[in-house]
Amino acid sequence: MNDYDALVIGGGIGGIQTSIDLGDQGFKVLMIDKQVSIGGSMIQLSKVFPTLDCGSCITTPKMSAAFNHPNVTTWNLAEPTEFKKNDDRTFDVKILKKARYVDLSDCTGCKECELACPVIVNDLGYDVNMGPKKAIGVPFPTALPQKAALDIDACIFCGRCAIACPTEAIKFDQVDEIHDLKFGTVIIASGFLETPTIKEEYGGGKFTNVLTGKQMERLLAPTGPAGGVFRRSDGKNPWSIAFVQCAGSRDETIGVPYCSAICCMFAIKHAMLLSGAAPMADITIYNMDMRTYGKGHDEFLQEAKNMGINFVKGKIAKIEEDDDKNLTLHLETFDDWEPGFKKVEHDLVTLSLGLVPQWNPQSVIPVALNPDGFVHKIRPKTSPNLTTIPGVFTAGTAMEPKDIVDTIISGSAAAGKASQWLNGGLTEEFFIEELPVSLKVEHD
Ligand SMILES: Cc1cc2nc3c(=O)[nH]c(=O)nc-3n(C[C@H](O)[C@H](O)[C@H](O)COP(=O)(O)OP(=O)(O)OC[C@H]3O[C@@H](n4cnc5c(N)ncnc54)[C@H](O)[C@@H]3O)c2cc1C
Ligand code: SF4
Ligand code: SF4
Repeated sequence: MNDYDALVIGGGIGGIQTSIDLGDQGFKVLMIDKQVSIGGSMIQLSKVFPTLDCGSCITTPKMSAAFNHPNVTTWNLAEPTEFKKNDDRTFDVKILKKARYVDLSDCTGCKECELACPVIVNDLGYDVNMGPKKAIGVPFPTALPQKAALDIDACIFCGRCAIACPTEAIKFDQVDEIHDLKFGTVIIASGFLETPTIKEEYGGGKFTNVLTGKQMERLLAPTGPAGGVFRRSDGKNPWSIAFVQCAGSRDETIGVPYCSAICCMFAIKHAMLLSGAAPMADITIYNMDMRTYGKGHDEFLQEAKNMGINFVKGKIAKIEEDDDKNLTLHLETFDDWEPGFKKVEHDLVTLSLGLVPQWNPQSVIPVALNPDGFVHKIRPKTSPNLTTIPGVFTAGTAMEPKDIVDTIISGSAAAGKASQWLNGGLTEEFFIEELPVSLKVEHD
């Protein structure tokens, strides 16, 4: 007897979609996420390309649909630690559920604890080191659950939150729990991170006015930490802004040789939002080539050009910072009309860093990965959600870099295949690697 039909690892938009689709078919799902809220990266986005819809207007209804689904149970601060495939097509998984130090059933989300807490630290999660947070509090306005969580590493144990809490929800003695559970299928939807390495040539993460794409995203968001885009060095609004494309992708030297698929589009989005807020600002996107292959994406690029955003074909070799924290970019242009080396100055730079897998599933689940760390697809063209372990599927950016639309499609596709497996319609034999056509010919 299984505890749940399906275990979905990751509560980003991919895992959420898989959970809703399986839940709607009557399967009992446990969706786990290691963060204090579900939503993944999408919940940090201001607006989304190519429509410039508000990000949370799309994410929050889906988060709520999964979270409140009668067939979906959600655990936060939870991750798998052990995995075993059984002969009867089931899986035993050990799940570590870390202490939140707040009782979810007692907490009302009133934020009295947050007001009382004297400790302010940098928010390294939701606001990507661009804003403050308290040691205890409801993580952010659209977080689910809308309940407080205590950051035990930041806490000084003064006890003020416990005194302020009207429902006695704060439990300093809460401990981590280990759960041994049986599932009929497992779906890996553990998502992505921005490439963590910032090249020394681009300041190695030390230049104050050089941001990552996610940091720019948070500054542009209505729920952002500062109510607008500013220079960290002096708090001034920038008037000359550069975007450096492929700053952490298509680059063998940092071990990320592949294209990250979405950075060109999110840089155009950021440039358009900046241009809307400050029409006089000078905005330039430095790129080797703009990759806008999706539906409505090329039109989005044209719209940006019409708005006056500059696109310069070239590679930024180096960024230098002066005493006033202004930035000089060393550029090699490939533009036919003006090729060669140049120096250009900007007062704010955003690096489009690219995407790497967030989690190495092999630490728990012995599934094959590609050399880049994304989950290996055994039938990449015909059944892309299948992994090397029969009954284990993958969805979203755990498979490869994807935008939201493609992540949602792959989430639904994973649910479809998982339900086929649960109904006995997908046999172990189907999980044999599909060879590329050319190799098949050689074998024949
Ligand atoms: C700056 C930026 C701007 C973007 N703008 C857009 C845009 O405008 N339009 C668009 O279409 N796309 C955009 N994207 C891409 C979009 O964010 C992704 O397509 C989408 O978030 C992928 O969702 P996901 O569920 O695959 O992964 P994620 O959002 O990364 O979610 C994965 C989840 O898995 C959890 N997790 C990881 N490992 C474990 C584990 N071991 N155990 C438990 N849980 C785990 C994580 O905590 C996380 O919540 C942007 C991306 C960036 C970086
Ligand atoms: S005990 Fe910790 S979380 Fe509570 S108010 Fe004091 S510092 Fe903040
Ligand atoms: S822990 Fe208590 S004070 Fe804090 S949000 Fe929950 S109910 Fe309110």
